[in-house]
Amino acid sequence: MAETHCPYCALQCGMNLTPGAAGVEVAGREFPTNRGGLCRKGWTAAAVLGTPDRVTEPLIADGRGGFAAASWDMALDLIAERLIKLRSSYGADANGVFGGGGLTNEKAYLLGKFARVALGTAMIDYNGRFCMSSAAAAANRGLGLDRGLPFPVTDLDQAGQLLLLGSNVADTMPPFVQHLDGIRAGGGLIVVDPRRSATADLTADGGGLHLQPVPGTDLALLLGMIRIAIAEDLVDHDYLVARTEGFEALARSVAAWHPARTQTVTGVPASLIRQAVRLLASRAGSYVITGRGVEQHADGTDTATAAINLALVLGLVGRPDSGYGTLTGQGNGQGGREHGQKADQLPGYRMITDPTARAAVAEVWGVPADRLPGPGLPAVRLLASIGEPGGIRSLLVHGSNPVVSAPRSLAVAERLRRLDFLVVSDFVLSETARLADVVLPVTQWAEEDGTLTNLEGRVIRRRAAVTPPAGVRSELWILTELARRLGETTGFSADPETVFDELRRASAGGRADYSGISYARLDQGEACYWPYPEGGRSTPRPFTDGFPTPSGRAKLITVEYRGPADRLHRRGELVLITGRLLEHYQSGAQTRRVPELAAARPEAMLEIHPATASALGIGDGEPVRLHNDRGECRVRAVYSKAIRRDTVFLPFHFPDRQRANLLTTEETDPVSGMPEFKVASVRVERVAAD
Ligand code: SF4
Repeated sequence: MAETHCPYCALQCGMNLTPGAAGVEVAGREFPTNRGGLCRKGWTAAAVLGTPDRVTEPLIADGRGGFAAASWDMALDLIAERLIKLRSSYGADANGVFGGGGLTNEKAYLLGKFARVALGTAMIDYNGRFCMSSAAAAANRGLGLDRGLPFPVTDLDQAGQLLLLGSNVADTMPPFVQHLDGIRAGGGLIVVDPRRSATADLTADGGGLHLQPVPGTDLALLLGMIRIAIAEDLVDHDYLVARTEGFEALARSVAAWHPARTQTVTGVPASLIRQAVRLLASRAGSYVITGRGVEQHADGTDTATAAINLALVLGLVGRPDSGYGTLTGQGNGQGGREHGQKADQLPGYRMITDPTARAAVAEVWGVPADRLPGPGLPAVRLLASIGEPGGIRSLLVHGSNPVVSAPRSLAVAERLRRLDFLVVSDFVLSETARLADVVLPVTQWAEEDGTLTNLEGRVIRRRAAVTPPAGVRSELWILTELARRLGETTGFSADPETVFDELRRASAGGRADYSGISYARLDQGEACYWPYPEGGRSTPRPFTDGFPTPSGRAKLITVEYRGPADRLHRRGELVLITGRLLEHYQSGAQTRRVPELAAARPEAMLEIHPATASALGIGDGEPVRLHNDRGECRVRAVYSKAIRRDTVFLPFHFPDRQRANLLTTEETDPVSGMPEFKVASVRVERVAAD
């Protein structure tokens, strides 16, 4: 039996895996985030290990739309030859790397090192750009540190009040909901969501609140809430003086957001907004937590900043019984953004432009600091550079499926086809892998060792339970073999613990300092939250004694409401919002292959209000076409009174003509590079069944 964690979301529920004749048995394991509970995805996670379409040998495109099996030597030699040729013809930045927030810490770290040292390219980024980048940017500039939840999840067990903005935890991470039991019972749950989601439904117990704003107006709502807190003198004056800076400018910046204006812009009754602020300010144990619903916008960083500002003016952050946080989505979304696969960062969550950080990491890597490239392009711009002068001409994709998950995905697929060379490491022929010149089959979660960092900043162990199929390899082995072929004969290892040991040293002194963490400590069951410097201690609550800013105070940063980038232009358009279902995860590459989950949710369904549908002549269950300038989707409609009449909802887990991201925009947040996934103007019409 192996004690490990679920392969999916950042709650990283503890589970035990026991191999047997009938396959791998999954059992929930006692761990603070899940207390033995698992959701439907977790219980069925072992099914994907034996998926019949698993790729078990390297594949090379045959030029006729198919693939031919190849030996590892043949595939890796070909990749190295093509990358070297592209580098010598077009420069090192012609080769790009695209990572993922599901990769272990060791893989994320080695991928960043591989890009900067073996390829010498600046052009590396990852799918976390689509996930956590706005919340990360906001926390870094306001609090001096981005650690998703800067407190253990179990702190919420004693909480009295929670403002949850843009997160549907009841569907996305159901075991999390048990930590809200006390809050719900006391009527303290306030959910902000344009949909009456499963989580918004939880507010019905005990008299909580559901605020249902016009999509894309969350920032206006928060500015209005801050103004109410100031106007009604609900702010914590002592806290503001002792622990923050910038209050006067913030107060001036929100002065015009009087309740009537906030109601007009957001559609949320002013009385409800007032009630929410008063409740949040009046009770001990109040928390503000954001999710992708308010962050995946062209103003996502400013919206997350406003949420932090609200928590700060109420004096919630850095106290033992209250706080602000953001819920990381992907399994290693937290660790994935700390170890150097982000375009602008080196291991330890340090900026690649910082000379001190460059010198420290270069020393660990055994290379001159001036050999390290500078910052690359964030994900959307990296993919958009394909086919442009000076753009990337090859791409190595690890742990990601951008053909389904990237915005404006039709254009993304067309660009990937134009690459000189595309290599995809995956365990199946994902939608992205099907476009590849070479596919490298990799191990899965239950077949490998390593570490991840959960949504609390706690480092956890992944442990192998089964032997992988004979033909597959770990990404660590692949990167080591490729690095050797590119001339780096030392400095790369396929052994997870060896890589982690180097990661620890490379992170020492950084914001995400792992130098005090080891496999031995983790295996002894120690709860290791970063920063955990060597000789120091684990830090479950990093803001207790101050903020890691130059002044030691949190910064109240003024932000302006601009509204969504993708506005409704013509009569008859609706706002498309996208999100997740209980049964599926991310692009669905794993969960669509689990028979139980696929049977429960076999297709994308467009949630539409019955009144809106009737006006458009669309019957419940009928096929519809959604379209805009970027593409079109074909799905079936399902009536739902949970959604606003001006809004439709489509899950983003499905491929081909059901791909929600065929319709989303490449407009990005100017600070974080986050695409505006959560607002897209679309037209919807009934079509004949295929
Ligand atoms: Fe837990 Fe998330 Fe896995 Fe569900 S998907 S079992 S909530 S880690």
